[in-house]
Amino acid sequence: MFPVSDHSSDVIRGLWSQMKKAGVKVHLHTEVKGLKVQDGVLSGVELSDGRVMEADDVIVATGGLSYPTTGSTGDGYGFAAKCGHKVVDPKPSLVPLTVKEDYIKEMQGLSLRNIKLTVKKEKKVLYEDFGELMFTHFGITGPLVLSASAKLGKQLEKGPLSAFLDLKPALTLEQLDDRILREFQGNQNKQFKNVIHVLFPASLTPVMLKQGGIPAEKPIHEISKEERRRFGEKVKAFPFTIT
Ligand SMILES: Cc1cc2nc3c(=O)[nH]c(=O)nc-3n(C[C@H](O)[C@H](O)[C@H](O)COP(=O)(O)OP(=O)(O)OC[C@H]3O[C@@H](n4cnc5c(N)ncnc54)[C@H](O)[C@@H]3O)c2cc1C
Repeated sequence: MFPVSDHSSDVIRGLWSQMKKAGVKVHLHTEVKGLKVQDGVLSGVELSDGRVMEADDVIVATGGLSYPTTGSTGDGYGFAAKCGHKVVDPKPSLVPLTVKEDYIKEMQGLSLRNIKLTVKKEKKVLYEDFGELMFTHFGITGPLVLSASAKLGKQLEKGPLSAFLDLKPALTLEQLDDRILREFQGNQNKQFKNVIHVLFPASLTPVMLKQGGIPAEKPIHEISKEERRRFGEKVKAFPFTIT
């Protein structure tokens, strides 16, 4: 929900005024410890201070688990279970992802559009899609990553996953190699770092120079076809580890 004002306080004010109109009695700073259930019959709630509030019906609206400091600590799952509901283990979803490698964090603030993210467990592809991704001080975020997180929560509980970015998804490996070769032609005596930067945003270039397998200072005429191919492969499948 996005109010026109962009202020969440307006949502609270709206709800508050409706509750006032309906005569709702609000008990602030009152923690519910559990539901009062006896012989399968619900008769109210038990508060942390020992009091019991009798009620014919109880609506549990205790929120999720994603932001406990707001007071939403997932108590409702326990309440539901106590009433006999089957509770599916909650998993994180629509969240940014943490990454092991420092070179990812070095690019914090960089946003990439139209790239492909592939996440694998060994050889099995768990997620693959195109979109926008942003690097942060802890890993990656952005629409592509939030969508991916919804599919990866369960697998991430078992351990880290391998991820790959295709930084040039519009080009095949052959086309990319041709493109790199075009940059090399006419720049034979220049150093690799002074030629390859045209392919990447500024903060990605130093990382590609470190990770791409070709020394930054190497003159173009000394770079072998194999080195160039391996560099292209890194651009098409830039690796890192999601934790
Ligand atoms: C950083 C962030 C940004 C977001 N931005 C947006 C946005 O822009 N637009 C949007 O639509 N949504 C947004 N959301 C999602 C939105 O906040 C939630 O979907 C929404 O608040 C869920 O409402 P709820 O009433 O189910 O639970 P909550 O808002 O979590 O409310 C649950 C309440 O129950 C209370 N409670 C929990 N346990 C107990 C207990 N045992 N006893 C008594 N009280 C208890 C909690 O203190 C809390 O007040 C955002 C969420 C986060 C974390």
